Amino acid sequence: MKSSRRTFLKQAAGLTAISIAGLDAAAVAGSATPAVAQGTGWYDRPMRWAQLSFVEDDPGHYDLGFWLDYFQRIHADAALLDAGGCVAFYPTQVPLHYRSKWLGNRDTFGEIAAACRKLGMNVIARTDAHACHQDVYDAHPDWLMVDERGSKVRHPSDKDFWLTCALGPYNFEFMNAVHKEVMTRYRPDAIFTNRWAGSGMCYCEHCRENFRQFSGLDLPRTRDPHDTARRQYMAWHQQRLFELCRVWNATIEAINPAACYLPNAGGGALSDLDMKTLGSLAPAAIADRQSRRGLMAPWMAGKAAKEFRSTMGMKPIAGLTSVGIDDQNRWKDSVQNVEETRLWMLDGIAHNFRPTFTKFNAKPYDRRWFPVVEEVFRWHHANEKYLRNERSLARVGLVYSQQTAAYYGWPDAAARVEDPGLGFYQALIEARIPFEMVHDGLLDEEHLHPFRTLILPNIAALSDRQCEQIGAFVRNGGGVIATLETSLYDEGGKRRDDFGLAELFGASFAGQVEGPMRNSYLNLKKDPTTGAFHPLLAGLEDAGRIINGTHRVHVTAGDQSMHSPLEVVPPYPDLPMEEVFPRTTDTHEPGVFLRDVGSGRVVYFPVDIDRTFWEVLAGDHAKLLRNAVVWATNESAPLEVEGKGVIDVSIWQQKDSITVHLVNLTNPMMMKGPVREVIPIARQVVRIRPTKDGRKVARARRLVAGGEIPFSEQADAVIVELPGIDVHEVIALDLES
Ligand SMILES: [Zn+2]
Repeated sequence: MKSSRRTFLKQAAGLTAISIAGLDAAAVAGSATPAVAQGTGWYDRPMRWAQLSFVEDDPGHYDLGFWLDYFQRIHADAALLDAGGCVAFYPTQVPLHYRSKWLGNRDTFGEIAAACRKLGMNVIARTDAHACHQDVYDAHPDWLMVDERGSKVRHPSDKDFWLTCALGPYNFEFMNAVHKEVMTRYRPDAIFTNRWAGSGMCYCEHCRENFRQFSGLDLPRTRDPHDTARRQYMAWHQQRLFELCRVWNATIEAINPAACYLPNAGGGALSDLDMKTLGSLAPAAIADRQSRRGLMAPWMAGKAAKEFRSTMGMKPIAGLTSVGIDDQNRWKDSVQNVEETRLWMLDGIAHNFRPTFTKFNAKPYDRRWFPVVEEVFRWHHANEKYLRNERSLARVGLVYSQQTAAYYGWPDAAARVEDPGLGFYQALIEARIPFEMVHDGLLDEEHLHPFRTLILPNIAALSDRQCEQIGAFVRNGGGVIATLETSLYDEGGKRRDDFGLAELFGASFAGQVEGPMRNSYLNLKKDPTTGAFHPLLAGLEDAGRIINGTHRVHVTAGDQSMHSPLEVVPPYPDLPMEEVFPRTTDTHEPGVFLRDVGSGRVVYFPVDIDRTFWEVLAGDHAKLLRNAVVWATNESAPLEVEGKGVIDVSIWQQKDSITVHLVNLTNPMMMKGPVREVIPIARQVVRIRPTKDGRKVARARRLVAGGEIPFSEQADAVIVELPGIDVHEVIALDLES
């Protein structure tokens, strides 16, 4: 605990050394330690978190006894409770700290915090930093957010409020005073702050002045990352936010040395916050991806868990699930279909989230969510020893890159950077391959040690050092799969003359990226020396040709005599129908590069096969992507599951057991929730090849259906047959001691 606190301070202070590399992996690496294993703070203990956020009229109007009873019944062991910031729910003395009009002489926060403590729960005080009332405006107009035109910004939803500046005295002084008072009065275990990182770019006098001091420049008026001021801003913005974490954390620790500031963030390639720095600083975190909206697969819950784990290691991560509808129209007082809530929570649990429900308004209008959260939490409690995971046994890592999103992806990072990753994610789900997410800032040997294969889905922006790390990984026997423009840019988004990984790919950039292409194909070619199809084409032997991606990089093969099992058929007219025939059939332009490099294997697709898969979901591409992973990995998988349906799998080691989670996503509402009902799937044969350190499997259990289940052992595998799965099953193998 002591050391992790010191680490927080020292490392956050070290961030001031960053000059222009806000998201630059190499610069941040200098100040970061590897993601640590579980620490020893209080935050390791609670496994189920309950967030109850008050609304202003809750004081005096809500049923405290009901909530305490519920928390107890569901075995929640940490409570996230509203203290203040935007609205104070305790008798604050901080000037301008707005008290709820319904508070009267009460201490609503203090009362529930004390009661939760009495139940043995950890208490985390929640504050909100993004909005203030008119009196704050009048007293400190400089605390408010200012837009590009120089106007202070009214809250878009509630016109009684103004938006605050996240990077100036409102947070550094006022919110710090609020945190100090909350800590002094109540000594909670932590504080976390909602909407603490601002509501967009701020042009207030403090931001202008502080940025000028940092860079000598005026605040940028463009989001173009190639603009000098914008680049400086990106670095300064990160530095300022982590400095804020440091200031708040110091205030909190000075009062309660066991307490800390818990940052919350969305995570992932598109996150504004550098997740690597966050992962190295915070002892625990709150993952703020609360539910599905729009077109989104339910595995996004597990993806968030993996993204946080990629930089936080096995530190505790509370995965928020909104029981409310989190749609952009924000019907905050309604609740989701319970099946949707269940699926979202279970997929997070399968990937090591500590389940956390979040409910706004302590006077629930719609109570249908209570039983489903109770069911999931009680199950989680009953099986806790099998859910205290020590490490993932996945051997495949899917890389994501914030620097690629920031410097290459602009202005459309979702399509250029996120979509290729989503395509590969979906392919791995369909292939039932357990995998982890890997942050591109952590490609060193220690972080890559657990993995056999790395996937680089159009990870365009990579530094020389990162390319060297990937090369070393392959030379040590690892497999790499890369697509499209991977490594064609440096870490700052500047295009190279050739791929940073050209040697690994066996391909060089020929100067052109083509697309979007219509009506282009890939011919499937037998190896002329063996007369057989390459394993990459398994399951496609009768196809002849399949659809291509929609973007391709023109490349030259390093070895002109190389055989590629896929050959590009360039685009040709798709109308008039009479003209739809290929003008050339044998181009000998490789559609894939497959290489043995030392004891490692490399697959390079010069096309956006992964992004196209996300767009089109062609089964042929699913097979290609799966086969590429299997061929590059070149070892028996730790987990294989045979049967029908779409399931999200994970494999974990605990102290004395191995668990396999199988989350049934098979549902007509899989790609766009909410699901209406669970569609059970039939028999699944599960082959587990765990690293048991020589320990024998004593028994196998089903943690959802319950009871022991027969297993057989065959060579190096333990085989379990499940008669079926409703929404979730966990196979637990108890190891002999
Ligand atoms: Zn500002």
